[in-house]
Parts: sequence; C-alpha cells; structure tokens
Amino acid sequence: MQYISTRHGSQGQPSPLGFEDIMLAGLARDGGLYLPAEWPQFSKTEIASMKGLGYTELAFRIMRPFVGDTFDEATFRRLIAEAYASFETPEVAPVKPLGASGLHLMELFHGPTLAFKDVALQLLGRMLDQTLTVRGQHATIVGATSGDTGSAAIEAVRDRKTIDIFMLFPKGRVSEVQRRQMTTVLAPNVHNIAVQGTFDDCQDLAKACFNDLAFRDRHALTAVNSINFARVMAQIVYYFWAALKLGAPERPVAFTVPSGNFGNVYAGYAAKRMGLPISHFVIGTNSNDILARFFESGTMTTTEVVPTYSPSMDIQISSNFERLLFDLYDRNGATLADAMTAFRSTGTLKVGANALAGVRELFDAGRVDEPGTLAAIADCRKRFGETIEPHTAVGYAVAQQHRRDPSVPMVMLATAHPAKFPDAVEKAVGVRPKLPARLGDLMDRAERVDGLRNDIEALKEMIDDRRAMAAAPARPKVRT
Ligand SMILES: *Cc1c(COP(=O)(O)O)cnc(C)c1O
Repeated sequence: MQYISTRHGSQGQPSPLGFEDIMLAGLARDGGLYLPAEWPQFSKTEIASMKGLGYTELAFRIMRPFVGDTFDEATFRRLIAEAYASFETPEVAPVKPLGASGLHLMELFHGPTLAFKDVALQLLGRMLDQTLTVRGQHATIVGATSGDTGSAAIEAVRDRKTIDIFMLFPKGRVSEVQRRQMTTVLAPNVHNIAVQGTFDDCQDLAKACFNDLAFRDRHALTAVNSINFARVMAQIVYYFWAALKLGAPERPVAFTVPSGNFGNVYAGYAAKRMGLPISHFVIGTNSNDILARFFESGTMTTTEVVPTYSPSMDIQISSNFERLLFDLYDRNGATLADAMTAFRSTGTLKVGANALAGVRELFDAGRVDEPGTLAAIADCRKRFGETIEPHTAVGYAVAQQHRRDPSVPMVMLATAHPAKFPDAVEKAVGVRPKLPARLGDLMDRAERVDGLRNDIEALKEMIDDRRAMAAAPARPKVRT
C-alpha cells in the first residue's frame, strides 16, 4: 500500500511512501495529511465472511492491507492482541441496543484511559515500538493536550525504551481526573509538563519544536495526534465491527459521531469507501459548530473557541477535515493546498454547490448547546437507563434530530466513560459516576510533573537535557 499527501503535487512530485514512513512522520512535509493512494476494497462476500469474528481477528483482516509487509503476519497479530488485551472486555467495543428504538450505543471507552482514543493509541504505541526496535532507533513524541489525548498517548508508550514522550498541558486548565491520568504515570520515559499558559500556547510550543527542522531531526520527533493516519486505520475497524453485528453487508447501517477533529467520523467514511454499506453519518458538534455550519452552507469560517461540557470537541479547525476536502477537490492536491493556504489567512473556505450536494447525501451535522447537552444525558437515562457523558450526549441529541430512516439501525459512538466527566453528569442526573475499580485509587496515587514557562527555548533545553541524561548512563552497566 502506498500513501500520498492531501497536498501532493503542491511542491513538486514526491515519491509515494509506505506505511512505516507515514506512521513515523505523522504530518507530511508539505503540510498535508497522509492517506492511502487507493482504498483497499472488500466485496460483499468478503464482508459476509467476517461475520462472527472476534474483535482482534477482524482488526487483523481490516488493517492488513494498510500495513502491507511492514510487519510479518505473526508480529502484526501479536501487536493487535496485546493492544486489545489492555481493554476491560474482550469485545473491545460492545454494541448495546437502546430498547426497541433502533438506536444503539457502541462503547469505545473500555481502554486504559476511558476514552475512545485508546482504541487507536494502544495499537499505535506498539507499532511504533516494534518498528523502532527493529531499526535500532529512538523517537521522541512531543504533543499538546487539553485532556484525553495526553493520557491515552502516555498510557500507550509508557516504559518503552525506544520512545520518550513530552506532553504539554495548560497548568490548572485540565480536570483533576485528566491531569492525574497523566501525572501518575511515573515511567522514566514519560515527561509531563504543566505550561503556564493556555492550550493554544501548548500547541504553539509543540508546533515550534516540529518547525525547527534541526531539532526535529536531532530527536526524531513524532506526532501521535489524530492526524497520524495509523490512528484513522485502527478506528476503521470498529465501524465494520458494529455494522456486521447489525446486519451488514445485507443491510445498511447509520452512524452518529460526536466530532472535534473529524478523525473518528473520517474513519467511518473510510470504511464506507472500502465497501461497508453505511447509508448515513450524523456529526454532532457542541457550541463550537464549525462543522455544522459547513454542512449547512458549504462555507467553513473560523470563530472563537468557547469552553463547553465536552472539552475534547472544543476545537476551531478540524484538522482531519482536510482528508474529506481532498475528495471534494477531486483529489487534486495542488488546488487543495492553495485553498488551505487561503483558509489559514482569511479564515474562510467555500466548496462548490455540486460538492456540497454530494457530501450532504451522506452527512448531516447538527449542534447542541450546553443546556441541550445536560438534557440529553438526563433523557437517555430516563428513557433507556443508560448514563452517558457529555460528548456522547451531543451525538445522542443530534442523532434523533437527523434520523432519516427508522428501519436502518443507528449506532451512536460513546466516546468516553461517564466517570471521566463526573461534574457534568452529576449536574444532569444528580448522581456522580464512579471510576472503574482499576482506576479507583487514582486520586491517591503519587504525581510527577514539571512546570514550564511559556517559552520555546526553555522547552527545547528541557528536551535536550533529558535526552542527554538518558544517553549517558548514570551508573556503569553491570554484566551478569
Ligand atoms: C477526542 C474526543 C472526541 C473527538 O474526536 P475527533 O476524532 O477529534 O473527532 C470526542 N469525544 C471524546 C471523549 C474525545 O476524547
């Protein structure tokens, strides 16, 4: 399988890359996002033959064409098995019907950090470690987080000798559960950094590290945020998983996805491109509704970010949306590169009427405000006895507004465990959800975190120092 950038052709003709290269690079050098030159295809017969498979076997069959010969078959199977053994349930992503409504919840929060990001990151961490071990190399992950991404990435690479991770978060602006999920990981390769600044400051610091090419190459910087195609790949699997349970390939299925960076729903779109009969996607946004406005008007215009009960969707520019735009621009990388450059400077991007009509056949999008989010949590509990958290609730509310055909099952993605957002849940239903037993002592565990002023030179110095310390062993190695 070969990969191209969404902006390919904008800076000469680069040669297509393999899976290892795009996994290690994350973002393309031309500023675009990687995707496969062609989607692997699964026929109706092939999809039918996957019915009844366990999650890990299904994952192997769906992802195998993407990784090609990066891993031999036995190694790839082992990495998948280990990744999903870290989940509470062998089902990995249980699909629960809500009464006889035709609505279903797919629970994606049974991984180590209680959010759907574990599904992809548990595998990506292992794939990176395997590749680096074989190559005899070391990589450094630098990332910024406003909450869920940080803990999922840290949990995915803790204790790996091939990887160091530096995670920046805004001091005092992440929830206590979210902070502790990062800072209580005391592994020597994990570096938590509380920055005196906002999430945007953290993101700017991380970006500045990548933009310093000498620094980037010196530490082999890697990005594991949702632009990394390996994450999209791992997320495609659970769309097949749910659809197969609900009648695919004979019957179509619809999905509702609460969206921030468009990474999760883009994986569903990829599943459809690969042959899965998905009739309809509903995208849920909170008050930060750039995607809802786009699907209404065909124009994307940035505004200020406002904080909501669903902080992981408090996003202004959905980075993965560029992958869908690539198709709307007829896969013309040079034209898209121009459009994205104009978007960065003017804050506006408009697609043609035909392109808009085309995507609207497949996608609906809607927004839910703060009272609507709490009302949805209460409604789901009252009608179906299920407690959902605010991100899931946004999808739940929008799904009911945009259901097209009641005879088609609608799967709503439950992206986090309710105990991750206890304040909002308690406000909505008067009951405080409890952390699962394996995280029950989180509030008593020791923390380790470094403070940092909002200063790029101070950050680079810290990374240089830590890596130099690791390279020079403090004590002589003893041979046994
Ligand atoms: C990250 C996240 C989202 C948004 O996912 P995208 O892939 O960015 O669209 C939704 N819900 C939760 C709980 C998240 O952590």
